[in-house]
Amino acid sequence: AKSHQRSSYTYFTVDMGVEIRERVRMMHALRAAFENERLFVVYQPQIDMRTGRAIGAEALLRWKTEDGQFVPPDQFIPIAEYSGLIVDIGEWVLRSACFELMELHALGFTDFKMAVNVSQAQFSHPLFLQSLERALNDTQAPAQCVELEITESMAMTDPELLIQTLQHIKRLGAQVSIDDFGTGFSSLSHLQKLNVDKLKIDRAFVNEISDKSGEGSIAKMIVQLSQSLNIKVIAEGVETEHQADTLLSFGCHLAQGYLYARPLAKADLRAWIANN
Ligand code: C2E
Ligand code: CA
Ligand code: CA
Ligand code: CA
Repeated sequence: AKSHQRSSYTYFTVDMGVEIRERVRMMHALRAAFENERLFVVYQPQIDMRTGRAIGAEALLRWKTEDGQFVPPDQFIPIAEYSGLIVDIGEWVLRSACFELMELHALGFTDFKMAVNVSQAQFSHPLFLQSLERALNDTQAPAQCVELEITESMAMTDPELLIQTLQHIKRLGAQVSIDDFGTGFSSLSHLQKLNVDKLKIDRAFVNEISDKSGEGSIAKMIVQLSQSLNIKVIAEGVETEHQADTLLSFGCHLAQGYLYARPLAKADLRAWIANN
C-alpha cells in the first residue's frame, strides 16, 4: 500500500512523508498527554539584580511522557501551534499560572508577577481576549501582575489586529512584554506604536557578554532603546556573574537565568522565594 501511495502522490518526497507522519504521531501523543494531565507548568524566577530578590516568574510548559522522558518545548510547541492544540493548552497554562500567582499572593508575596508565553495562533484566535478575561475573573488574579509574553515576529504579521488586541489587553489591565527581542527585526516606529510594557533581551545577546570576547553591544543597545522608549527591560539566559554585572552597568536591573534559578516546580518555587 505504501509504494502505491508514494507513486500516486509524487509531490510528497519520502522524507516529507516521514516528517509529516512523525508530526501527526506527536500531535496525537500531545493531545493524549494534555487530556491525561501529563503536561505541567514550571516557574522560573525573575530577579531584581540590585537586591537579588524575585519579583516574579515565567511559566514554562513541560511534557513528561509515560516512560518518564521529557519532550523539549522547542519540539512540541511548534506541533501544538501547527495543529491548533496550542489554543486549549495555552489557555490551560494561563489559568494554571494565574492560580499559582494567587497562591503566592495569599502566601504573602503580594507584589509577585507572573509572565506567561502566548503564541501567535493563540493570540490571533478570536476568543483569546475572552479566555484571558475569564482566566482573570475566575482566579481573581490582579491583571497588573499578569504579563503576556509575545514574540517580535508576531508584531509583523497583522499590525492592525495586533494593535487592537494590545489595546484590549491594556484595558483589562494586564502587561505585555516582547520576548526574544532583537531577533525579529521589527521597526522602531512600529515598536513605539505597540506601546508594550517590557522588552526581553534574547538569550543569544546575553550569551555574547563573555569574559573573553564580545562586550554585549546589542544587549546594551536594547537597554538604551528601552530607556529612551521608557519601557522596562529584562535579560533572559543570564548564566554568569560577569553577565549580571555587565547588564547592571548597562542599566538593566531585571534578569532570569540559571545563575539564579532553573525553572522550578510549584513547591520548589515557593521554597526558593521564601529563602531568597
Ligand atoms: P522562551 O520563552 O524564550 O523561554 C526561555 C527558555 O530559556 C526556557 O526554555 C528556559 O528554560 C530557558 N532558560 C532560562 N534560563 C536559561 C539559562 O540561563 N540558560 C539557558 N541555556 N537556558 C535558559 P524552555 O522551558 O525549554 O522553553 C523553550 C521555549 O518554548 C520558550 O522559550 C517558549 O518559546 C516556548 N514555551 C515554553 N512554554 C510555553 C508555553 O506555555 N506557551 C508557549 N506558547 N510557548 C512556550
Ligand atoms: Ca518567554
Ligand atoms: Ca525568550
Ligand atoms: Ca529565547
